[in-house]
Amino acid sequence: MGNKVSNTLKLIVFFLIFYAFSQLYYTRNFNFIEDFELIIGEASNIPATWVGSKDVDKNIPILILAGHADSQGLAGAGTPGEAVDRFGLNPMHPEISDELFWNLKLQESIVKLGKKKGLNIRSYDPGIRNIDDPNDPRTNWSVGRRFAKRGGYAIEIHFDAYGKYGIGSGLIPPFSDPPNKIDESIARTFGRFPVSFRGGLGAPRRQIRILEIGKLEGLLEKNLRNLKTRQKTINLLANEIVQAFLNGII
Ligand SMILES: [Zn+2]
Repeated sequence: MGNKVSNTLKLIVFFLIFYAFSQLYYTRNFNFIEDFELIIGEASNIPATWVGSKDVDKNIPILILAGHADSQGLAGAGTPGEAVDRFGLNPMHPEISDELFWNLKLQESIVKLGKKKGLNIRSYDPGIRNIDDPNDPRTNWSVGRRFAKRGGYAIEIHFDAYGKYGIGSGLIPPFSDPPNKIDESIARTFGRFPVSFRGGLGAPRRQIRILEIGKLEGLLEKNLRNLKTRQKTINLLANEIVQAFLNGII
């Protein structure tokens, strides 16, 4: 009996120390190292052979979608991230997944910077955070599909799951449209997934690209969560994406 109690105590103390360290890990100040590849972490290493060689008109309309913006129900809400799921920290927002929180922040920055750099770029946010029918005309996929059908470049941004649950950064090209020079340019920055990744996901089947920025863990998540490095990190990511667009169309 006594042994059982002391074991339980040991376990509690262990978890308290673990919790304290994880809190410290996420809140202490540290120097921001502006190293893009180090920050986004590993890229997908699944073999992918596609090459984007189709020329792109420099005025191509670009649409940036935030992954999971219309699916905050039980399934498909996006990754809670390592900080919440593994270290027990509070979510960034009580009603949405941490992934969506960052997807929305990054979406806004990409469009703002892209406009400044002369891109024909815009965003779409369904506003309604849970639309059950993926073919409802207000979903990301429906709006993206119509946009792509009219010749635009629609891309949905995501952060991948942490640890063994995720794969890493990379671009999933559209399922049946041939990949173009923007796809190639983004893949050179972020890596690439095969066209038929997981049998062809809902977005690529609607000719919407998926960009996995990186796993929501480690240095990337830490840099996003820390107030002193948050904006710098979002700017760094937005800048790399906008630069990849510019490199692909010029
Ligand atoms: Zn996602």
